[in-house]
Amino acid sequence: MKKYVLSLDAGTTSSRAILFDKSGNQVAVAQEEFTQFFPKKGWVEHDPIEIWKTQLNAIKSVVKKAFINPQEIDSIGITNQRETTIVWNKNTGKPVYNAIVWQDRRTAKTCEYLLDEGKEGIFSSKTGLLIDAYFSGTKIKWILDNIPGLKDLAINGEVAFGTVDSWLIWNLTKGVKHVTDATNASRTLIYNIHNGEWDDELLTVLDIPKSLLPEVVNSSEIVGTVNESILGSEIPISGIAGDQQAALFGQMCLKPGDVKNTYGTGCFCIMNTGSNAVRSQNRMLTTIAWQIKGKVTYAIEGSIFTAGALIQWMRDQINIIDSAPEIEDLANIVDDNGGVTIVPALSGLGAPYWDPHATGAIMGITRGTSKAHIARAGLESIALRSRDIIIEMQKDAGVEFSNLKVDGGASNNNLLMQIQADLLNSKVIRPKITETTALGAAFLAGLATGFWKSTKDLEKLWKEDQSFEPNPDDKTESIINLWKDRVYRIIS
Ligand code: ADP
Repeated sequence: MKKYVLSLDAGTTSSRAILFDKSGNQVAVAQEEFTQFFPKKGWVEHDPIEIWKTQLNAIKSVVKKAFINPQEIDSIGITNQRETTIVWNKNTGKPVYNAIVWQDRRTAKTCEYLLDEGKEGIFSSKTGLLIDAYFSGTKIKWILDNIPGLKDLAINGEVAFGTVDSWLIWNLTKGVKHVTDATNASRTLIYNIHNGEWDDELLTVLDIPKSLLPEVVNSSEIVGTVNESILGSEIPISGIAGDQQAALFGQMCLKPGDVKNTYGTGCFCIMNTGSNAVRSQNRMLTTIAWQIKGKVTYAIEGSIFTAGALIQWMRDQINIIDSAPEIEDLANIVDDNGGVTIVPALSGLGAPYWDPHATGAIMGITRGTSKAHIARAGLESIALRSRDIIIEMQKDAGVEFSNLKVDGGASNNNLLMQIQADLLNSKVIRPKITETTALGAAFLAGLATGFWKSTKDLEKLWKEDQSFEPNPDDKTESIINLWKDRVYRIIS
């Protein structure tokens, strides 16, 4: 009797395994951190073997913790840190170099060169992305160009590239499957999101042999089985999606215009645009939300560099709170911001302003300004930046969204969520399970095997914790007007 779906959440700092039951409840979780390597300024690496070992430990430990028999696991879904690039030797199964992590900037110069050569147009029109060191393409190129003899081996078909999902599946199937799903492929800068193929022209520009690349599969499909030696049972692997896309699915944002925003260190906002691969006018990314039974659903994605990080700054640098959640009580002491606006440009300003050199500002201080006003303005600034992005996404997509689904650490702040609802003039909904990334991967896996019959069934499992109805007033308007005026004052 199959009772559970196992979700593997291969994050940037840890490997997690989470077991969900048929009602979508989290039964048990296990987590193991792995080492972050910073070999040079701007370089970030992980050891792929350590990623695999920590993931394996998490899998074994969650089964133990939950006191279940592995035969009760229906299927496995995988969600992962995106763009992180691993290249390994197919004969030995050993990585040829460390994983180059999405944060790694070593290929920034290559990207500048490509931009100078006027390549932005072909890359963005085909991949929906911008030419940036963030994506896998130039990282693969770096490995091929820097490991002696590797290119010849690659041309011979003896080398494999994969993002972390691919690498885990290769190991889980003991080298039987070299696959990735369409969402992960859509972050590589070499995948054409319109025709669903690795793009020959882009591969030629980057000098990457096609033989390196994984087969691209659906996000919800049985792609292989876990080798019996691992858990003593051959469990199907049937769900794969990059972390933000998995979260969008886990939030059941299934219709065009549905949006989820994750409030963590930064904010990750992603909107379902249906069968329409919308091209942003604001340099936001077009990406694949998921591919099911060959049908692609697209999304538009924008991020804010500083969100919860501003609250950390208030805690650690100006010490107006001792812990992040305290910001809510402090901000609640006052009814409004007292005329204060914070522009949270602690690491530049992203979409739609795009000023990497902008620095933050606190404006409108008077003798009456208290730390509570600063706290409130801080929360407002996170909601204002999210509003900026969501409004532009709506314009880009030509759809109006009806409500915002939220998750991430700072989404537990009720005042922030109410401010967000007021500023957007739309309902904000927080789910019971905020582990939406892992839940999304589980949903995709269980949907493929028939553990869950349809997305209608899944929608019934998605449970609301709390919703925040918009209640805008004159003060809301004045917050927005002050913001519009003041944010432009810091742009260089
Ligand atoms: P990440 O995954 O980026 O590490 P999390 O989703 O764990 O982030 O959220 C942590 C962030 O959220 C921190 O930056 C912290 O300052 C902020 N945070 C956590 N709780 C609250 C809260 N109640 N109010 C405001 N910010 C919060």
